[in-house]
Amino acid sequence: MTLIDAHTHIFAPAQREGRERLAARDATFAEMYGSPEAKIADAGGLLRAMDEAGMDRAVAAGFAFRAEADIREQGEYIVAAAAEEPRLIPLAPVNPALPGWEAWAGEALARGVRGFGELRPQDQGWDPLGAAGDRLCALAAEAGAVLLWHVSEPVGHAYPGKAGGITPVELCLLAAKHPGTKMIAAHLGGGLSFYLQMPEVRATLQNVWFDTAASELLYDDDSVSRLVDLAGPGRVLFGSDYPLQSPRRQLQRLQALLPGKVAFAVCGGNADTLFSDRHHS
Ligand SMILES: [Zn+2]
Repeated sequence: MTLIDAHTHIFAPAQREGRERLAARDATFAEMYGSPEAKIADAGGLLRAMDEAGMDRAVAAGFAFRAEADIREQGEYIVAAAAEEPRLIPLAPVNPALPGWEAWAGEALARGVRGFGELRPQDQGWDPLGAAGDRLCALAAEAGAVLLWHVSEPVGHAYPGKAGGITPVELCLLAAKHPGTKMIAAHLGGGLSFYLQMPEVRATLQNVWFDTAASELLYDDDSVSRLVDLAGPGRVLFGSDYPLQSPRRQLQRLQALLPGKVAFAVCGGNADTLFSDRHHS
């Protein structure tokens, strides 16, 4: 049984030490990480948390920084960490609102990243349904890469970083435009899964997976089982949102909530398939 955490975040140690400097120039970073109590992890912390949870691999994603320099710093760190530690599945940060962003995206893919994220288009000021979204989706599809989207629930309580991602409606429209692009709708897809009950939406979302990141903070205990019912056991990915939540605790929670075979798929089997299916050029 392979255990994979499909949603974690790591930063370069200098970025963690420079939290105040980053918060002063990046409003979204300030919202989510400005408080000294908000956890920021590096690769060493993630690997320790994985060991505690008995996790075989983890998707190490970036943050939707605005500035090129911050994206580069985090991206270089994630690339280097994954080169050193094959248990990490690297996703690079990217900002398609920046001129020349595709050079970085192409370089990151050439250096082994398996996708991009966590994507927050509204915070970065680009339209996922516009030209930048089209180019990012095409680039990902061509490389067999995966796009991890922060899906913003349109209802419910506020929390740092809730808004600023992609809405369930936008993600559905985007998937219709780019059926060949593999995407993960984070945080149970922000309610998008409800519409899988409409046959045409189900067909549209054939390349969309849903992760369970931070689900314990947002949804009730039966939510993941309902998601499995709606999306199918092959479309749900365990994600902790580490360091926001503990992989060990969230893994135990999901394994207790889901029947054995389903837990096997959700807690690793599905991510293993999704991330090993790579186009070779
Ligand atoms: Zn998120």
